[in-house]
Amino acid sequence: MLRMSRLLVRTLREDPADVEVPSHRLLTRAGYIRRVAPGGYLWLPLGKLVLDQVTRVVREEMVALGGQEVSFPALLPREPYQRSGRWDEYGEDIFRLTDRRGTGYLLAPTHEEHFALLVRDLCGSYRDYPPILFQMQTKYRDETRPRGGLLRGREFLMKDSYSFDLTDAGLAAAYAAHRAAYQRIFERFGLRYTAVAAMSGPMGGAVSEEFLAETPVGEDTFVGCPSCGYAANVEAVTTALPPPPPVEDHPALEILDTPDTPTIDTLVDLLNTTGAGGHTDWRAADTLKNVVLTVDGEIVVIGVPGDREVDLKRAEAALFPARVAMFEDFASRPDLVRGYIGPQGTWKARYLVDPRVVPGTAWATGANEPGRHAINVVCGRDFVPDGIIEAATVRAGDRCPRCGTGLELRRGVEVGHIFQLGRRYADVFGLDALGPDGKPVRVTMGSYGIGLSRAVATIVEQHHDERGLVWPASIAPAHVHLVPLREMDAALELGAQLTAAGLRVLVDDRPGLSAGVRLTDAELLGMPHTVVLGRRFAEGYVELRERATGTRRDIPLADLADFAGSLV
Ligand code: ATP
Ligand code: MG
Repeated sequence: MLRMSRLLVRTLREDPADVEVPSHRLLTRAGYIRRVAPGGYLWLPLGKLVLDQVTRVVREEMVALGGQEVSFPALLPREPYQRSGRWDEYGEDIFRLTDRRGTGYLLAPTHEEHFALLVRDLCGSYRDYPPILFQMQTKYRDETRPRGGLLRGREFLMKDSYSFDLTDAGLAAAYAAHRAAYQRIFERFGLRYTAVAAMSGPMGGAVSEEFLAETPVGEDTFVGCPSCGYAANVEAVTTALPPPPPVEDHPALEILDTPDTPTIDTLVDLLNTTGAGGHTDWRAADTLKNVVLTVDGEIVVIGVPGDREVDLKRAEAALFPARVAMFEDFASRPDLVRGYIGPQGTWKARYLVDPRVVPGTAWATGANEPGRHAINVVCGRDFVPDGIIEAATVRAGDRCPRCGTGLELRRGVEVGHIFQLGRRYADVFGLDALGPDGKPVRVTMGSYGIGLSRAVATIVEQHHDERGLVWPASIAPAHVHLVPLREMDAALELGAQLTAAGLRVLVDDRPGLSAGVRLTDAELLGMPHTVVLGRRFAEGYVELRERATGTRRDIPLADLADFAGSLV
């Protein structure tokens, strides 16, 4: 039984300064967490109880799928990260340090390297496979912008697990087991979430999925189909293809003087005011915008319909692992006339187009001279792209690639990520096991993360109201909050009985507070049920309040045992 008179909990009436999101505000006001450093938070007793519940649920599901718990240090030698290339890849995102002997260390952002080394050393035979290892462990990332309290910390708690298999089918099975476990975990947390494909593999199957919990404060945008349930990261959305029109329908390419039309809007206005091509219904979507990127140093031009931009994140995902940036140095390439590039020109660079630019479509586009554009520029007749790329911005209302319904754009927080890594780390560290025939077999790995501290905040984002927290019973610090308006001793006695019946109980036994203060605090603290020992207590009745619905009813004390039984 938790007694508020002794519990280190101080509720705040006012919102703390500098908080951007409800979970940060309410967890601070209710005395669950305190900020100690940018992106660093202290768990007060009530907060620690919730974190422990979250951890317990995850641990139960990880053990159920055959996982074995281990625990690595966070302070690790940097050498394995250098070998895997991640010392450089993570860049400024890792905390790096040096010991007194000058040896390089890091505070681990995640642990693939050291798990691979562990399994290489301990699992030398096919008989040792397939192990699944997990830990609940503090991670460090020097995030550019720690944000939203627990949502994006620089020190945070993660469950990370790793699977090791001798066959691709084994990896697929470990991945599927994690996927199912994650679904159970997020259901037990009471989270509304969507699993989205983060990147699709060369074989078309999903090799990586993110579990996004929908909330307006989320930093990840994803698309969802309200009709068939299709969901994907913006990076992974594929464009529903329009049917190709016949090529011969179009008049010949025509070049127009279009002074002062460096942008699509100015171009469309001019085409309409001059009645270019004999009509005045030109739209931005009829123009072809050509954007110049550098891809691992090579110049690549991307053509997208003029009502869209090139989304760099989508371009990066499509061109992964190449490094992608906007090209700026037009002075070095006079053949690429900024603002007036057209694919029918003679410039030499790889030219990739949006899937909407199908053979037979006609476009208004640059004429490769300042102040001039071309119309009736037909794909397949006047130019032939080198390939197709999914790099154009995705918008609400775009067609669902599965069923054609208008897509919605939604925001979410990434609470989990599952990943079929394959043999990347095994190749780096020579992770082999001897097969039954005595020949070495290269191991294939999966890695699977859940942000435990982030999950606490995410649950709050989905479960709160203007008065405070609203915990789902599965992870609440207590099932029941006892509020005596006078009968302090009786409340403690009742608390002891409910505890004996298997409930987690919080009693407000603080002396000398008004009923109003106690009830306001009870709503802020957010236990699923409040039992008020009020006016009718002398008659043998208590008031039962349900936090989520706000319903109140008087029940005979004698029925409380049944009620308790229904909760455990
Ligand atoms: P994000 O895109 O939000 O930065 P990530 O993709 O870098 O996350 P992973 O490397 O996939 O994160 O880590 C696994 C899980 O750890 C994430 O799904 C998330 O729940 C959690 N996590 C990652 N970074 C943070 C952070 N800075 N604070 C709290 N939790 C985090
Ligand atoms: Mg991730």
